[in-house]
Amino acid sequence: MIPISMEAYVNKHCKNNPGEEPNQLRESLKQAVKDKKNGAICINCGQEIWAIGSAIAYQGCFSCLTGEVDSSEDYEIDEVCWS
Ligand SMILES: [Zn+2]
Repeated sequence: MIPISMEAYVNKHCKNNPGEEPNQLRESLKQAVKDKKNGAICINCGQEIWAIGSAIAYQGCFSCLTGEVDSSEDYEIDEVCWS
């Protein structure tokens, strides 16, 4: 995954989704990052969660949230980007 800082992601996401509330997204991301650091797992398959997707959708891993296997071109918050 491509590491990105939380602020950079919030800016990017809100630019692409004008209806999104930056403060709310930031709070959701903080929570998801905290969950991931605490070892939260995907509610479907038990894998490590994808913090960005979990902030936007539900607590899940990249594959379950997107239906894709290749995450090399997708972002993850830098402080929880381990792979
Ligand atoms: Zn999963």
